Amino acid sequence: MRDPWCVELVRIGAVLPVMLRVLREDLAGVLAHPVWIAPEHVDPAPAFDPSRQQYLVSALMETLLAKPREAGVFIIGVTDVDLFLPVFTHVFGTAQLGGPVGVASEYRLRPEHSGDPSDAGLLRRRLLKEVLHELGHTLGLVHCKASWCAMSPSRLPEQIDLKDAAFCSACAKHTGVPDNSLVSIHSWEGEKK
Ligand SMILES: [Zn+2]
Ligand SMILES: [Zn+2]
Repeated sequence: MRDPWCVELVRIGAVLPVMLRVLREDLAGVLAHPVWIAPEHVDPAPAFDPSRQQYLVSALMETLLAKPREAGVFIIGVTDVDLFLPVFTHVFGTAQLGGPVGVASEYRLRPEHSGDPSDAGLLRRRLLKEVLHELGHTLGLVHCKASWCAMSPSRLPEQIDLKDAAFCSACAKHTGVPDNSLVSIHSWEGEKK
């Protein structure tokens, strides 16, 4: 039987291919659904806004939406550039609610962006949770009140650190992700560089 849904990660900009591969493995460990990396690469240059020196995330979403895709494939673009929407100073990512496309950026998740030392393990966990959050929106999930749930909203990277790389049981039920397939982020907290 064909899997009811699967995830395609699309590299946008100069995000390191190894980072995308690690993200794919992490995401596949959390979801009971296939995750793969698209062969093509998206140049974010057309979404650049010279006055803000940032990239318009909705323009990147439109680029991903123009890609041919099969039903049941959710596309998450992953980038290293600073994203914005007109009413926000910046966004970590965004997604269509119940739609097939989302985008997430590592740019604001880097610890050095907040003046802290660089930490590859911390960035890896933050990116996984951010991608899981945007994927959740594409699967139709809205923000969740459970503070540890991946669908809890985050304004700061430090708030992402308080969440698990997992949906709570109510959110998981909605997506069809079996509870026993969810791997808690707590088991990774000791892996910091
Ligand atoms: Zn959200
Ligand atoms: Zn939840």
